[in-house]
Amino acid sequence: MSNSKGKWGIVTGGNRGLGLETCRQLAQKGYSVVLTARDLTQAQEAAANLARAGTVQAAHLDVTDEASVRAFAEQAEASFGPLHALVNNAGISMKGFDVDVVQGTLGVNFFGALRVTQALSPLLVDGGNVVMVSSGMGELNAYSSAIKARFLDEALGVDGLVALVGEFAAAVKNGQHEAAGWPSSAYRVSKAALNALTRILARQSARLHVNAICPGWVKTDMGGPSASRTVEQGARSIVWAATLGADAPNGGFFRDNKAIGW
Ligand code: NAP
Repeated sequence: MSNSKGKWGIVTGGNRGLGLETCRQLAQKGYSVVLTARDLTQAQEAAANLARAGTVQAAHLDVTDEASVRAFAEQAEASFGPLHALVNNAGISMKGFDVDVVQGTLGVNFFGALRVTQALSPLLVDGGNVVMVSSGMGELNAYSSAIKARFLDEALGVDGLVALVGEFAAAVKNGQHEAAGWPSSAYRVSKAALNALTRILARQSARLHVNAICPGWVKTDMGGPSASRTVEQGARSIVWAATLGADAPNGGFFRDNKAIGW
């Protein structure tokens, strides 16, 4: 781990849960943290509550809103210091399973992370860390071998991946997704797509480290009160990946700082 003086880090969905705790731990490590949320008032309240941890400033960022992402990228370029870490943490897990749930879930968990990373990657310093907060639910064991192979294809690019998740949404709409080899879970597919995006961006960028993290099952609004881990434990792996130095791994999937399978 390298010296964190003067380093800046951005966290999406920072107003609660793992995002909030990630902001706290990054600030405690000396990073200047930009805690973003889709509700600016909530971001400001959360940042104020972290004042004792270190330097935390609030900003508005709705990962599903192109204009919000563009405005935030302009703000970042104009007013933030050297950006060393981008944590794509914002995520949702919706009840039910139909095409609206699929589109809503992919919209935040996959397209949100893609949009934010594309907008902010140019602002990251050489050797900067992009962290995709993924999940063991993104593992590829619930798919037909043909779909699994398409996710893992080293020739897959962003456009191909967008087309692949579009096929999932179309298959759900037509009631054909199981026959086509997909699981009945928008969340699983969104995280499998996020993992594929991690591999693609890692292959494409020699300048940055792009890694996916599974925080484990964590007590948050999403994880629920029965979850086995505290937010402090869950955020630790995320912060580890966000603060890696020059010899960092690139294009991996980690839990508790150890590589896990796709
Ligand atoms: P959480 O407590 O439900 O928090 C989710 C965060 O995402 C909230 O800050 C929420 O903001 C934000 N968000 C949702 N939609 C957004 C949008 N369009 N733009 C910006 N922010 C948005 O969940 P969590 O457990 O902390 O989850 C954080 C990440 O960890 C997620 O990616 C999740 O999939 C992943 N994860 C969690 C677990 C677990 O057991 N908890 C396990 C594996 C992976 P609002 O307050 O505005 O809704």
